[in-house]
Amino acid sequence: MERIYFDNAATTPVSEEVFEAMKPYFTEKFGNPSSIYKEAQETAGAIAEAREKVASIIGSDDEREIIFTSGGTEADNLAIKGVAMARKKKGKHIITSSIEHHAVLHSCEYLEKNLGFEVTYLPVDENGFVNPEDVEDAIRDDTILITIMMANNEIGTIEPVAEIGAIAREHNIYFHTDAVQAVGKIPIDVNEMNIDLLSLSAHKLNGPKGVGALYVRKGVKLIPQMSGGAQERKRRASTENVPGIVGLGKAAELAAENMEEKSKKMAEMRDRLIEGIEDNIDEVILNGPRGDKRLPGNVNVCFRYIEGESILLNLDMNGVAASSGSACTSGSLDPSHVLLAIGLEHEVAHGSLRLSLGAGNTMEEVERFLELIPGVIDKLRMMSPLYEG
Ligand code: PLP
Repeated sequence: MERIYFDNAATTPVSEEVFEAMKPYFTEKFGNPSSIYKEAQETAGAIAEAREKVASIIGSDDEREIIFTSGGTEADNLAIKGVAMARKKKGKHIITSSIEHHAVLHSCEYLEKNLGFEVTYLPVDENGFVNPEDVEDAIRDDTILITIMMANNEIGTIEPVAEIGAIAREHNIYFHTDAVQAVGKIPIDVNEMNIDLLSLSAHKLNGPKGVGALYVRKGVKLIPQMSGGAQERKRRASTENVPGIVGLGKAAELAAENMEEKSKKMAEMRDRLIEGIEDNIDEVILNGPRGDKRLPGNVNVCFRYIEGESILLNLDMNGVAASSGSACTSGSLDPSHVLLAIGLEHEVAHGSLRLSLGAGNTMEEVERFLELIPGVIDKLRMMSPLYEG
């Protein structure tokens, strides 16, 4: 039986078209883009083309606003630390949420510990939503940055980013959003949404690992986090990852094609998964919202009385790759900070399962999964000392 891959929020396979686009830039077209001969112009041109494609998928009409990075993590670090260091004379207060990815949370903690910044970590409601009014209330005279994610990687909540952007703009505070999980899934317009900085990553949209980008609105000052050459208009030193950047550009171009149609199909599979699980298994909790405020490919449920890890191992033996939350924290015994922030008890939060759909999934796989899961949960509950079923 073919395996089912339901962990697209962790990473996705590089699509054939993306791979084909990248290939020449490993062996034939290898010039250093900073050099001055024909080989260099070839790669510099490929980077320029990719920059336009990446700018386009987030609604920027100025490709100079894109800085290529080594991924979403570096983009988050550069945005937060870079802005903090550039504006520290103006103020040392940052507003974020308690459910951000660790790339954001740990960047904020770094600034608190090492550079004397103060950070407000806003709570979220039971579905993971940040309240824009809370953002406004948290603003102080010394607030220099608001960083709130566009969509949560564990529970799929799509945050009210446009409202938050409007508030930030009104108060003349920079607004950064981690859109790693959102790009290519939902429409984004950095101008309409008043976003000043936005992080994205190629490997979440059928592009290669180890490459991403940070959008920085024209005029926004930021201190580079890498000392070295003058690449990326002196904002990110180091010789460009040309094949990776070409791959990101192609992946962005493909993701933008028929995005609405593809996301609709994914949302149908998502809703069928949720319905099938809720109808056939008792004592299940859906984490995150229902409907169009949830990422089209995200399902996250808790099964009471059992551990997420044992569900994953059993699913793996049955041919399914899934996750209990974030790939970066798997292996840790602490329950997810996101599930705790939406109010789950420790015990319940331990029994979480995240299924994340991608371009390659089919309704046939969804149905096959739904046949399998009640038996897996039943078996584990029978072994659980907590279950009296
Ligand atoms: N931000 C979010 C919301 C993510 O889901 C991830 C990856 O899981 C990252 C940042 C980090 O991206 P990367 O793996 O490209 O460093």
